[in-house]
Formats: sequence, C-alpha cells, structure tokens
Amino acid sequence: MKKMLSILLILSLAFAVFGGQPILAETGEGSGTSKIGGEGAIVVSVTLADDGSIEAIEILENNETPGISDAAIEAIPEAIVAEQSLMVDAVAGATYTGDAIILAVRDALEKMGADVSRFEVEVDTEVEQAEDVLLTADVVVIGAGGAGLTAAVQAHMNGASVLVLEKMPKVGGNTILSGGALNAVDDRSETAIAMEDSVEWHYEQTLAGGDFKGIPALVHILVSRAWDAVEWMKELGMEFVEGEIFTVTGGLWPRAHKPLEPVGTGFFKTYQAYIDSHDGIDVMLNTKATDLIMEDGRVVGVLAEGETGNAVTAMADKGVVMATGGFANSVELRQAFNIQWADLGPSIPSTNHPGATGDGIKMLMKVGADMIQMGFIQLLPIGDPETGSLSGNIEFGVDSRIFVNKEGNRFVNEGGRRDEMTEALFEQTDNYLWMIMDADKYPTGEEKNNFNESINSLIAEGRAFKGETLEELAEQIDVPYDNLKAALDTYNEHCESQEPDEFGRTIFGTPIDTAPFFAAPRVPTVHHTMGGVHINESAQVLDENLQCIPGLFAAGEVTGGIHGANRLGGNALADLLVFGRIAGESAAAGR
Ligand code: ADP
Repeated sequence: MKKMLSILLILSLAFAVFGGQPILAETGEGSGTSKIGGEGAIVVSVTLADDGSIEAIEILENNETPGISDAAIEAIPEAIVAEQSLMVDAVAGATYTGDAIILAVRDALEKMGADVSRFEVEVDTEVEQAEDVLLTADVVVIGAGGAGLTAAVQAHMNGASVLVLEKMPKVGGNTILSGGALNAVDDRSETAIAMEDSVEWHYEQTLAGGDFKGIPALVHILVSRAWDAVEWMKELGMEFVEGEIFTVTGGLWPRAHKPLEPVGTGFFKTYQAYIDSHDGIDVMLNTKATDLIMEDGRVVGVLAEGETGNAVTAMADKGVVMATGGFANSVELRQAFNIQWADLGPSIPSTNHPGATGDGIKMLMKVGADMIQMGFIQLLPIGDPETGSLSGNIEFGVDSRIFVNKEGNRFVNEGGRRDEMTEALFEQTDNYLWMIMDADKYPTGEEKNNFNESINSLIAEGRAFKGETLEELAEQIDVPYDNLKAALDTYNEHCESQEPDEFGRTIFGTPIDTAPFFAAPRVPTVHHTMGGVHINESAQVLDENLQCIPGLFAAGEVTGGIHGANRLGGNALADLLVFGRIAGESAAAGR
C-alpha cells in the first residue's frame, strides 16, 4: 500500500513537471526532480547548448530550509556547468542537498535524451595548495555552531578582536539543525506564573532529569541566566514567537521558546548580521583545527588545516574558546565511551551533522584537560527511519501526540525523559514507533512543523500518512485498528480528566479525536553527548588536577557535567547561549 502510494505520487509529480509530454530532444531544455536523504524534493531545469554541453541549471523548486542548504544550491549548479560533469560532489563539498541537485540534473538529462555518460567524467580535484598563513586575534574560537558564535559575538562586544575557525563549508553545526526549542524561565512573566514554572523548578527538573549527575553550580548558572540570554539574542535582533511556550520532547515542562525563523536558522541570521556589520570579527570556513598551541602552560593559539591542506596558525593574545560540539556522529568515540546503551554501533543513526566527530575532545585530551561523564550519551526515540535526522518529525510539542508500536499499542509516557522513552522503544517490535496526531494541529495540512515541513509535503513524499478516518489510518500504516482505537480512547479520557495515566503521563492537550488523523514512523537515533570537558563557572577549562588551563575556555556540547546522565529537551540551546556568553567574556578578559 505504502509502495503503491509513493509510485502514484512520483507519477503525479512527473506529470506535473513535464505536463505529460515526452521530452526527447538532445538539446534544448528539460526538468528533473529528486529527493534524497529524507530532505525535500528538488526540481531543476537544465538547458543544453547546440553542441550538447550543459549551458545552464536553474533550481525551480527547493523545499530545503533556507540558511541550511544555501551553499550547495549556489555551488553545485555552478560546478556542474564549469566542469561539464556530474561528478562534482567532492569539489563543492558533499551534502544531501548537493547530492539531490546532482540527481535531479541527471534525471533531467535522461528525460531530455542527452548522452549522460558524456557528463560522467572525473573532475580534477587537485587544487593548488594555498600559502601557509599566520593570523593573530585577541580571541580565537574553534567551531562556528551556536556556542562558538555566541562566544565570538560576546567576546567582540567586550572589546576583543575575534577569529572563528570552522572546519565545514558553512556555519551552524548541530545548532542550525535543531528544532529551535529553547528553555528559559522569566520568573516575572505571566506565562511562567500561569504554568506554575520558576527558575527554581527548572533547576530541580534539570538536576533530577540528569539523575543528579550535573554539577549543581553549573546547572544553577544555566537556568538562572537562560532568560537573560534570550533577551540578549532579542537585542541582537532575533525574533521568537511571542507569548507562546511549549513542552519539547523530553523537556518535562512547558518552558520552551520557539524562534520565528525555521529550525535553528534564526540564531545564525542574527550572528551573521552582527559579524557582517562589525570589523574585527571574522569566520574562516573550511579550516579544521587540529591542535592547541601551548607556551609555558598557557594556550596561546591553534594549529589548523586550511581548505587546500595549507597550515593555518591562529595565535590568540587573550584566549582560545573550544566550541566544537559533540561526538554523536563518531561511531568510534561513542562506542569507546558509551556506558548507557547496549550498542551504539553504525546501525544506530544520528540526528547530528557530519562534523560532529569529537575533534575538540581529542585536542583537549592532548593538553591534559579533565574529561567528565563521557559515557552519558543521549538518544531520541524520534529519528527519521531512513536517515536518523529530526526531519519528518510531525509533532509540535508533547501535548498533542502519542506514540504507538507496530501493534498499535501505547508503550511509554510520551511526556517523559528522553532516555526512558528510548529505552522503552528498544523493547518494541523492530524498535519502531508511529507518532499519531489529529487535525487539531494540522487544520489545513500546510502548517509547518518545527523542522519547516508541512504534513502535506511529508505525505506526498511517503514519509507521513493521513487517514480520513482512524480506520483508514490504521490500514495505511498496517497496525491493528482495534488496538489503535483503544489506545486513543483511553488517552482521550485522560485528556478530559487530566489525571495521570498508566504510563505516568501527566502532560495532556486536547483529545486526539478530530479527523483526519496523521501518523509518521520514528526510530531511535543518537542525539547529544552529555559528557565532555570539565569547566568552572567562568567557562575556564580545568586540567586533571582541577586547575585552570590558562588561556583555554569551552562552551556548548563539547563540555560535560551540565546535563548529567540525561539532558532535558530544550536545555541545549540554553546551555550554548549561557556558557557561550560566559566563555566569550572570560576569553576577552584574558583569564
Ligand atoms: P554547539 O551546540 O556546542 O555549538 P555545534 O554542533 O552546533 O555545537 O557546533 C560545533 C561546530 O564546531 C560545528 O560547526 C563543527 O563543524 C565545528 N567543528 C568541529 N570540529 C572542528 C574543528 N576541528 N575545527 C573547526 N571547527 C570544528
């Protein structure tokens, strides 16, 4: 049934693109479409010159999130035309978007009857090595994700010149891929009062939710400065959805603020605007830090490899901030450190970007930094079955969805801790769940989820399902109707009574009883590495004797001891903002 649906959809898409007319020209224009890696469809138009060469490529349709895929969208068509080759992924940096564009161009060429083999030529990727460079700034930041750019902007505001080194061809790291949920409590606000929330309650839930392994002083800083950090971002121009907070998966309480821009792009638009409008703060892309430079026990700079393999030496007069994120995408490191899960081998996917490989951990270990709680690794129960990414996650928050297994039964408190939900999922058939929602959150189907996707687009791609009745939905996703109905009936009774249910769920929204009904499949996926380098309250890195390593600071996922054994959903963005600012301040002060 599912297969038939996707074939039908592909046929209707092809018809839309080509208007039903076969294209058999060797020159002229044609369109192609592709979908890859769980991302949206890309439709391109290709123009061939009289001699059969590719003259132009235009992206006609692109459901990718602005800010995330911009680099590939510019670079790949240009590279194909320049090289007259489809084998340009290595030239322009392989990404899902890049691969999808190449497939779409191939599709167009095939539909036009062009000789595709002519464009399957190896491209000379040998580039002349650039000169080695020596640069100096007051503060050098490693990593241009959320923590790194927060630290960079704060250090610059405090009077430092700043150089950021980023190994990928773009900024953003995992932060830009996150759903954007940011936990922060303003004790004085009406929403916090209405939700019976407080900084104190956030503190208690964060500590307890991490099995009391978080360092209390750091947890206290996290929760008490989170709201200040939101206001700071607002002053810098970032917009949030006003007057609306929600409970993000594993967040345990409605205190997550949602950026106005999709996923994490609002943060980077804001940092970029600051960087573009100020002198003395720069980001070098494609520059991979490999080592910290020590002089008389102090960190004084960073050794890095430039885009062409040339040596980049960045000397820091005041300090270096390590903000390289976690290691959820290094199977080797997660297998080496994991103590919580049976196996974190390659069969378990990750939500993370390809650069989340723990480079910072390795650099820090070389200089004798104290690494703590490395075995605590967070999995989410809501990964895309094909890619493990968060894309295709149809929920808006905890209160409006349930999970059922392949038998159509609920099996866990869907408002609970991330580790407990994932452990329960590992007990279910094929480690597979269906997220079930109704029309309350999708009155038209065009509403965008936290990952900038509408349910209609996901249904068209065969990644979500819709039933005009619950029976029809059960049939589509092949779960026993009677079980699904019983699961919803019981759940809906609790929405009315607001009494805790048999799984201990206490967060209930409106009943899930309004047709049409929706479902999307999800699986376990590695999300966040809670362990990392030990820092003090000024974000200074500590050595194994718990002494500060002068000149070295750290913030974000590379640090450990803040979230304990399990991180609350929505606390990562608060962490990188709060400790990113502290690291920036401390580094600018040259501690
Ligand atoms: P955080 O949430 O802590 O900011 P992110 O994953 O969002 O973490 O960002 C970390 C950034 O650090 C990513 O952009 C990643 O590509 C970058 N990075 C990782 N290792 C290196 C390295 N060796 N050199 C430069 N940048 C790095």
